[in-house]
Amino acid sequence: MPSFRDSNLIKSANFIDGEWVSGTRTLAVLNPANSETIATVADGTRQDAERAVEAAHRSFASWKKVTAKERGAILRRWHDLILENAEDLGALMTWEQGKPLAEAIGEINYGASFIEFYAEEGKRVYGDTIPTISPERRLQTYKQPVGVVGAITPWNFPTAMITRKAAPALAAGCTIVIKPDPGTPLSALALCELAQRAGIPTGVLNVVAGSDSQGIGEVLTQHSKVGKFTFTGSTAVGKLLMRQCASSVKKVSLELGGNAPFIVFDDADLDEAVTHCVATKFRNCGQTCVCTNRIYVQEAIAENFTARLREAIATMKVADGFEDGAVIGPMINEQAVSKMERLLADATAKGAQVLLGGSRHELGGLFFQPTLMDSVSDDMELVSSEIFGPIAAVQSFSSEGEVISKANATDSGLAAYFFSRDVGRVMRVAEALEYGIVCSNSGVFSTDVAPFGGWKQSGIGSEGGKEGIVDFFETKFHSMGGIDR
Ligand code: NAP
Repeated sequence: MPSFRDSNLIKSANFIDGEWVSGTRTLAVLNPANSETIATVADGTRQDAERAVEAAHRSFASWKKVTAKERGAILRRWHDLILENAEDLGALMTWEQGKPLAEAIGEINYGASFIEFYAEEGKRVYGDTIPTISPERRLQTYKQPVGVVGAITPWNFPTAMITRKAAPALAAGCTIVIKPDPGTPLSALALCELAQRAGIPTGVLNVVAGSDSQGIGEVLTQHSKVGKFTFTGSTAVGKLLMRQCASSVKKVSLELGGNAPFIVFDDADLDEAVTHCVATKFRNCGQTCVCTNRIYVQEAIAENFTARLREAIATMKVADGFEDGAVIGPMINEQAVSKMERLLADATAKGAQVLLGGSRHELGGLFFQPTLMDSVSDDMELVSSEIFGPIAAVQSFSSEGEVISKANATDSGLAAYFFSRDVGRVMRVAEALEYGIVCSNSGVFSTDVAPFGGWKQSGIGSEGGKEGIVDFFETKFHSMGGIDR
């Protein structure tokens, strides 16, 4: 067990209406590095979710009246407490999710940054005064919080995917009920402990972790007292939840799966391209929605680039996330590892070559070797679907037009990366890629101050930046008569 400075951050109950609620059943939380049970947590139910929605609805009546400045001050205290406890929170995340400790602490800082940003941004949401059409009337719009927010979040970013939703929701004056992934509830519950210490009032923030995803999900998508639903996860589940929201015509925001192209033109800085390709491909063991999925390299440099990529991948240390120097931790579960084997079998049967890795790691369990493949073609499943694991798949291309068509030939539209030193090409390609996030000459883009969201089937709406708070408000038009009598 890792050592924690503050063991009160490790919770075993759900957080509903300001209380820690145990249940009759429990949920085992496993360490993916060795598959051992590290904790048990109350297995929340549909009834718990209903109770949480009722509590959030009651608390909304008062929270919406707190001024944006006061809400901001409370959020700011929550942010500060998260940073003060970053090492404990990071260790908790590595323990239940597997990512290397440095990466986990990085996520805590990233997650906290949304709270800091929206604590301020909540004070800058304005309605309009519209030039009137009659001396006797005045026309105004108000921005009012949408009410109770239902949120479902995944395991791959157990903290940041929560704060990216909860911070703008609370800053806007909404209250929230969150269902974290049942595999990673400890990070979510630790956030509640710190929220309580920060003075976030009872019922404003609720977390119901539970294995009955369907039952809890139905409450959050269909309850008449939930005003907005927000989800981060796979496109398939997003579509299902969106259909469920239709019955009560809820506002819906979706952050779904990706299939990111990484394009290297023959005028690129190859050292930079290799470094960023490795970072975007293997972060979180390849398990992020913006991970590089399809690597396209221009023919003249393909051999050189692939050789350098192989060298860089070979240096990555695969280890338990708590070990010094660990870069690649375990995958999340057995299904994820078996999927890597299935994708490799499909690709090699269709002619792909394995240049490095290609099987489970000698550490056993959920560890998989960082893998490099070339001679990849469009008929392979690792091109058409989201790999979501440590396999880098390289194809070559001849022209700019060809690679743009290939990059856009997908229903996904989350993130795309490309490398070129030609400024004209940088502008042309950035404009032509059908993606919500385009990153040129770098693989680093995530920040609280800019919008993160997908086009096409990668989602609806954006999180982060000034865009990320918009959907937590309704616009009201006030037409005021009888002014000039
Ligand atoms: P997932 O299978 O869609 O699950 C996401 C969450 O939804 C889990 O907590 C899951 O709980 C829950 N869920 C599944 N079916 C449900 C239902 N019928 N009703 C209510 N909840 C349900 O996705 P995942 O494999 O955990 O996460 C990886 C996916 O998330 C990838 O596709 C990735 O690209 C995407 N992602 C997108 C973003 C973004 O910002 N665009 C960020 C991170 C991840 P159970 O496990 O209990 O079913």
